[in-house]
Amino acid sequence: MIFDKAVFPRDKICGDALSGKVMPVFRKLDPALIDHLAIDKEHFIGSYGIKFAAPNGKSIDIPFNKDLGSLKTPPGFISKRIDFDNFMVGQIDKSVADFRQGHELVAIRKQGETNILSIKYGEEIYEVETPLVIASEGDRSVISKTYSGFGMEPDHYCGGIRAYYSGVTLGFSLYLMVVLMLERECFHPPLARRKSI
Ligand SMILES: Cc1cc2nc3c(=O)[nH]c(=O)nc-3n(C[C@H](O)[C@H](O)[C@H](O)COP(=O)(O)OP(=O)(O)OC[C@H]3O[C@@H](n4cnc5c(N)ncnc54)[C@H](O)[C@@H]3O)c2cc1C
Repeated sequence: MIFDKAVFPRDKICGDALSGKVMPVFRKLDPALIDHLAIDKEHFIGSYGIKFAAPNGKSIDIPFNKDLGSLKTPPGFISKRIDFDNFMVGQIDKSVADFRQGHELVAIRKQGETNILSIKYGEEIYEVETPLVIASEGDRSVISKTYSGFGMEPDHYCGGIRAYYSGVTLGFSLYLMVVLMLERECFHPPLARRKSI
């Protein structure tokens, strides 16, 4: 069973970059996934690196791969999370997994070797018992908080801001742009620039 409190397609704050490190993971899962990203140009655009820009105007380009001639598909991609996450959710094999959207984990407790999950769906709360649970509910994970005491550490906390701009005309091609600020880091997703490139 897979639970997600959201109903897909849903957006999520992110820089929208599938960097060069993501492609080997896809290749391991199923190389056909990368072919799909390369073909679906409406939702995925090829990305070739990251441009880190400092407040003083200086920047450095970090390419995902220097040997582009050897690649059949781009070394990275940019995709809005509303599209990318929906694509990944679409890969779930319903004959293997019972995927429940709009079902929120509100509490978890142990009873012997069993985990008892309290799941909220609409106004109803029901329980699910399982010997194995895998937590993947993001940085506010109920399971991590309950079982590991995981919490926000103010001394080591780093926040990010995501913003889309339109009408930007920059000389460089499809690089994710990261603007570093004093104690801050801003992601500038290039999807919004696409119209103006
Ligand atoms: C501004 C910003 C820019 C970023 N840019 C990039 C980038 O360009 N590239 C990159 O690779 N990473 C980027 N990241 C990091 C990336 O967003 C995270 O690392 C990634 O989303 C973590 O994935 P996850 O599956 O652990 O959690 P999430 O993506 O947060 O997914 C958690 C899922 O669990 C569900 N959920 C949460 N709580 C519950 C609950 N109680 N019950 C049921 N379901 C629940 C949510 O609905 C969600 O679908 C960025 C992050 C920020 C903040």
